[in-house]
Formats: sequence, structure tokens, C-alpha cells
Amino acid sequence: MDDSVLVMIEGPERPRPRPADALRIVDAMVGQVRVNDLGVTRGDGIFEVAGSLDGRVQALQAHLDRFSRSARLMDLPAPDHEVYRVAVRTALERLDAQYPGRELSCKFILTRGQEYPPGIEGATGWAVAMLGPDYSVAREQGISVVVLSRGVPRDVMASAPWLLAGAKSLSYAINRSVIREAHRRGQDDTLFVSSDGYVLEGPTSSFLVRLGGTIVTPPAEDGVLPGTTQASAFRWFEQHGVPTATRSIRIEELDEAEAAWFTSSTRLAAPVRQLDGRALPVDPHMTAALNRFLLDRDG
Ligand code: PLP
Repeated sequence: MDDSVLVMIEGPERPRPRPADALRIVDAMVGQVRVNDLGVTRGDGIFEVAGSLDGRVQALQAHLDRFSRSARLMDLPAPDHEVYRVAVRTALERLDAQYPGRELSCKFILTRGQEYPPGIEGATGWAVAMLGPDYSVAREQGISVVVLSRGVPRDVMASAPWLLAGAKSLSYAINRSVIREAHRRGQDDTLFVSSDGYVLEGPTSSFLVRLGGTIVTPPAEDGVLPGTTQASAFRWFEQHGVPTATRSIRIEELDEAEAAWFTSSTRLAAPVRQLDGRALPVDPHMTAALNRFLLDRDG
């Protein structure tokens, strides 16, 4: 039994009357992308990962919107939403039929296409559905987080837009290296801080912190990825009468943190039980309720 389903997309930037005509379901274990693809040779492309349970794809529209935003930030062709929507649903439905009741995720990608020979044009696209890892320990017991510098100032999007802060590009080598650094320090994950002392995000997560009773997260203008899970979590907090705010956060403010979470599409809400060596309270009941809400999202 395969534990992934791959859908290749021909002309991922081309709208069509029947989006399914652009799709080809292929063997995920056999090479499908060329070695001269710019996504492979330079990490020059964008991606999204959406979670899914029982056929419901969580926040798919928000992921598609952010996919387009990343394409604009990187001067890539605009991905066609309908083609990607059908590709993601097709891949997830196939895998869900094999693993009913399991948490799944679907990574979808658009690259700038092939590097050579000259004259070959057109983006490369695909969607691959996978079984999700078991995140129950992180969700229930929380994670430990070390604060590390991202080496750029908070206004990097405005002052140096070519650095592509806030784009979900395929160039995630740094996002992986900071996780290895966290592990070397005996911690689970990393919180990035800007060179001028502002709290940003994790390498694969948004950061939410409770300060004076309000749940606060940094704004996209501070060079972070606007999180789809963070946006959903804010709706849930507001529905439950907990105030929320999106604003820049100085690193010193974390000394007063009352609670914190890392949120992302597959791990969902992981409470931070230790932040740079300081223990933080974890509310397992509230976090479990939030995660149930996040898992039940549709569309
Ligand atoms: N920030 C970064 C850098 C990420 O890679 C991710 C995850 O993809 C997030 C934040 C959280 O985004 P989302 O909740 O949409 O998964």
C-alpha cells in the first residue's frame, strides 16, 4: 500500500474549463521532476502544505491565497487556483480512501520550470498527499523552544524585498538548519528574532503569545509568513472571548509571557512549555479544544 499519492500538473499557471484535464496521477516512488528543474537546482519555487482529516481539507482557500502571494513576491507565474484545488482534493481523496480516519497532509508546489535548454518555458507543478506524523506528544505535552537570530531587521520586507522574507519559497535549508541547531541545544524548535530585537516566527510555525490576557502575534509586515493556522486560531480565541492582537513584539516582552503556542498546518497548535529556558504554563484542555476546532476546519 502506498503512503503517498502524487498528482503532476501540466501548465499549473494555465486556467482550463476542466481543471482535471491538467492532472496526471503518477507513481510517487518514480522520478517525475527533471534534474534541470529550477525548483531542484536552485530552490526557485514556492510551496504550501494543507492538512486534512476525513476528506475535509483545512483552510485550502487561505493556502491558495498565500500561494499566489508567494508567487507575486517572487515574480513567478500566478498558479491557477482551480487546477491546484482539484489536484489537492484528488490526491487527498485517493489517500484518504486507503487510510480513513488518519490525519493527512498535501504539499503543493510550483517551480520556475526548467533551467535549460534555452527556450523551454513554463512552470512545473505538482501536489503530493502524505500520511501525517504523530504530533500527539507535541500537542499534549508541548515543546521547548530556543530563541535564535534571523540576522535581518524587522523591516526587511520593505528595506530588502529581494531577500523574499514572507514568501513560502522552496529555499528552506535555513529553516531546517535552525531546527538542527535547536536539537543540538537539547530543544525541540526555534523562535526567530530579528537583528533589532523583535519576535518573528518559528522555521515552520507562527508564534502566538499571551501577554496581559491578550493573544498576540507579529504582523506579516515584520517579515513573517502570514499563518493560515494562526488566522483560524485567532477566530477561535475571539469566539471564546479571548482578546487577540496582531502587532510587533519586542523580545523583552517575552519575560512576561503567560503562555505561548507554535501553530502550523500539520502540527496545529503546539503549546510552548519552555521558552529560552523559562517554563511556561500549558493549558492542555484549552489546547485540545483549539486543536479539535483546527482539525474540523473545512475549505
Ligand atoms: N511560518 C513559516 C516560516 C512556515 O513555514 C509556516 C508553515 O508553513 C508557518 C509560519 C505556519 O503557517 P501555516 O499555519 O499556514 O502552516
